[in-house]
Amino acid sequence: MGSICRQEPSRAADEIAPTALQRTGWYTINIWDLHVHAIVEPRARRDAAYSLLKLHEQGINFVVYIERLIHEHAVRATRQVPVGDLRAYGPSEEAVATQMASFEAVADTLARPSWLRWFAQAVAGVGVHEREFEQWASEGCSGFKVAIPGDMTEWPVSYHLCRNALNVAARRDLPVTIHVEVSRAPWIRDLLDEFTQSRVSIAHFGYSRKRLADILLRYENVYTDTANLEGPAKSDVKGYTEFITEFSSQVVLGSDAFLGNLSASNRHIDFFSETLDEKTWRAISVENTNRFLGNSGIL
Ligand SMILES: [Zn+2]
Repeated sequence: MGSICRQEPSRAADEIAPTALQRTGWYTINIWDLHVHAIVEPRARRDAAYSLLKLHEQGINFVVYIERLIHEHAVRATRQVPVGDLRAYGPSEEAVATQMASFEAVADTLARPSWLRWFAQAVAGVGVHEREFEQWASEGCSGFKVAIPGDMTEWPVSYHLCRNALNVAARRDLPVTIHVEVSRAPWIRDLLDEFTQSRVSIAHFGYSRKRLADILLRYENVYTDTANLEGPAKSDVKGYTEFITEFSSQVVLGSDAFLGNLSASNRHIDFFSETLDEKTWRAISVENTNRFLGNSGIL
């Protein structure tokens, strides 16, 4: 999403070329890219659909995060901070409509394939209650994502938002991705102590491999994703490879690409499939992603 993830300039759809995956034969396997954002220029929607198809031919499936709007009453009911401050953090109606329309247009072009799923994304600071998460689950999302902007990490609303998502996810048997800087969120342990049976992924290695390692060791039900980490991993191949190998049953593949620029997904997958040993690569791209998705991952 805009305030958290950078959008890269879009590239032509036919730059999507089968490379490492086809060389190693992995294209026959059902890989999930679990971290994609739904932003597409209206005129590029067909290109995005074409790119998705090309990548799917290599065995890759996608989970797309889409921000959802909250209701007025939910904003008013969040009393920890003044409503005026909260409004500044919420996605604009236009931004949400653009993401949803992007996803719908691409999904419709592809006749809604089962390998293209969406997670409903809520951003901390806009007081989403359990009823909104229930509503999104009824609309057919395959999971939830909670995004916590850096300057809201310590706020109680961030903890409560995650808790609401996890309560509904537990009832609906859905996975939850949380974007949070773990070193600034001591409350994450209280949350994880409460939801030891839930499937939770802390995106982007929690912005601290050191802090996240303690969490991954303590909570077997917690995962983390590789989103946007291809750059840092390139400059520290040894460190990242060791981390992923150590936690090879808890790392899931996610590129942070945008629907309008899926060559970023292709590059991400190529990099990790070439860098990791075959067993670890298979774990993060197939086995762990399927376990994390649970019933949501059945094709
Ligand atoms: Zn992202």
